[in-house]
Amino acid sequence: MGSESVKVVVRCRPLNDREKALSCKMVLSMNLQRCQCFIEKPGAVDEPPKQFTFDGTYYIDQTTEQMYNEIAYPLVEGVTEGYNGTIFAYGQTGSGKSFTMQGVSEPATQKGVIPRAFEHIFESIQCAENTKFLVRASYLEIYNEEIRDLLGSDAKQRLELKEHPERGVYVRDLSMHTVHSVGECERIIEKGWRNRAVGYTLMNKDSSRSHSIFTIHLEICSTDSSDQDHLRAGKLNLVDLAGSERQSKTGATGERLREATKINLSLSALGNVISALVDGRSKYIPYRDSKLTRLLQDSLGGNTRTLMIACLSPADNNYEESLSTLRYANRAKSIQNRPRINEDPKDALLREYQEEIKKLRALLTGQLSTADLSTLLAGQFSESSPAVPSRPQSTPTEERKEKIKEEYEERLAKLQAEYNAEQESKAKLQEDIAALRSSYESKLSSLEKAKVSRGSSVPKNVGASCTSQVALEELCMSTDPMCHSTVEETSQTKLSEKDPDRAGLLESSDATAPGPLDQKHVLERLQQLEQEVVGGEQARNKELQQRQRQRKKLADQRKAQLVHALSENSEESENVLLNVYNSIQEEVHAKNQMLVKVQGKLKAAKLEIRDLQAEFEVERNDYLATIRRLEKEGQLLHSLLERMVPLVRRDCNYSNLDRLKKDAVWDEDSATWRLPDVMVQKTTLPSGGV
Ligand code: ADP
Ligand code: MG
Repeated sequence: MGSESVKVVVRCRPLNDREKALSCKMVLSMNLQRCQCFIEKPGAVDEPPKQFTFDGTYYIDQTTEQMYNEIAYPLVEGVTEGYNGTIFAYGQTGSGKSFTMQGVSEPATQKGVIPRAFEHIFESIQCAENTKFLVRASYLEIYNEEIRDLLGSDAKQRLELKEHPERGVYVRDLSMHTVHSVGECERIIEKGWRNRAVGYTLMNKDSSRSHSIFTIHLEICSTDSSDQDHLRAGKLNLVDLAGSERQSKTGATGERLREATKINLSLSALGNVISALVDGRSKYIPYRDSKLTRLLQDSLGGNTRTLMIACLSPADNNYEESLSTLRYANRAKSIQNRPRINEDPKDALLREYQEEIKKLRALLTGQLSTADLSTLLAGQFSESSPAVPSRPQSTPTEERKEKIKEEYEERLAKLQAEYNAEQESKAKLQEDIAALRSSYESKLSSLEKAKVSRGSSVPKNVGASCTSQVALEELCMSTDPMCHSTVEETSQTKLSEKDPDRAGLLESSDATAPGPLDQKHVLERLQQLEQEVVGGEQARNKELQQRQRQRKKLADQRKAQLVHALSENSEESENVLLNVYNSIQEEVHAKNQMLVKVQGKLKAAKLEIRDLQAEFEVERNDYLATIRRLEKEGQLLHSLLERMVPLVRRDCNYSNLDRLKKDAVWDEDSATWRLPDVMVQKTTLPSGGV
């Protein structure tokens, strides 16, 4: 299992109207070929610009399309193969995080990373051969250290983080939405965007103070040449972080300041995690310090391929923030992850789906074929129940029934074969199945009516009806496919509230009424399950596959270019030492040049130390201000309590503050205090003797 570092790219937006109106100067410049970024300190003409190297640099004219194809494409492609991937946008408010992640529809080249990832994933899914996918999406927001579901029924409800020995850290009750197309993904994300908390700061009036994580969960089932299924699972996190600026700069006051402090808590925790990972000496990585770092734990030093897009403003009045973003990004480059394909995921829904589909098919084509189905059907029309199963006598009605059934099965088998081959479009096939089923049912019911009117009776076959009953029940019990998902806006029939997906079958397998209803429900369930799964629809579309290959090639070429550029950057200085010189003068000249260079570096390093110290000082003051503010707040609450406690009746446990403090327990998961229940102790005085 190899390790690979977190990829980091930087993106610089153009000057905005406000900056132009203020006649701001550009302090950022880039060398795109060498992936270098330079920043000049405003007013310090004698200081050399600070220089950083990344895995990609994107300047004011570069598009999201270019960035996606060069650096994000391989990461997202990996997710369709069973790797985990995370892309997060970092930077101060107004630097272009949302522009990069969500993007704009016009021009098309600036469409965001998130919609591009949808298109990419569905394109890969549709081109995949012998592979089925279950695609689900979730979208959450961390706002004031509280997690909310942006797609849930109540976007205000706080959700809890939980840890599971196998699943890792997850959000309890977060809704999961099965998606079948790019359009569905877009509708889902738009709903989430509308729910995001937005507020006003001086920097950008649409800016968001929340962190948002949109996750696409993929389950992949590929069938090999010997008809064996192989399961994998991949997850793509698309993270739009809140603005990284220091609170003092935003002019925030009151509630806004409170928000800013908490956001900085999550972002400082992210910074501390990055530092601890890069440090190498720290054994303890403080993931638990914030919700954000707990959720991104796997993306930083874990089983995930991670890409950080650091967004920058080029204006001189944002110099401090831009430099701080560059330093943050520079540190993140050294984080090592260990991505691997997630094989045989234990809690895969797709496995359950596939197993259920197989069972349902067997039930339709096997157990309920010819003899079994007719005996099952026959069983319905009789009240008596002989102990020994016996094949019913063939009557003219039976013969007609058999014929209809054979006709039905023949067509069903044909349809199934077509289904497997994916020759026809799914929607049309489903229409066919439904039409076939209704014609089967109408024929059957007319037959039934005719039979009832004739008053004929056929002995019931208990054995056969039990077999199918047991099979159905076993199926219901062994599968619980969507126990943690909430499927919305699909064309499914309304299902029972408690356990929606079992309900369809449980109803049908009501022990007192087996019969055509079972068949109907089995078919319905089969259709429902098959609708959930996508893959291979465009496996024969040569043009699409060609385009995919082209994009992969481009990404590979870019990678090779990058490796070349980075090695050039580091070779330059080494050559001076390794070279063989023709004369002493030549050697002296070369080495002198190198000396000048090293002296330049030394000067830059000294300046860097000075700048860092100044920056730490500012940060320290920020923290101290926060501590003072919190202390004041705490004091106020304490004074209020002291005044109020004497007002509480003596026999109530809340009249003893010290005791209450002792009994209160801090709950790590919900990050809240659990307080004792309010109790009033009634003391009954012993009754005096008469
Ligand atoms: P953030 O999400 O970081 O707060 P936004 O993405 O909202 O910032 O960007 C702020 C403004 O700058 C928006 O009006 C956006 O359209 C514009 N912008 C950002 N990046 C670019 C870019 N690369 N090219 C053109 N405009 C950009
Ligand atoms: Mg934003």
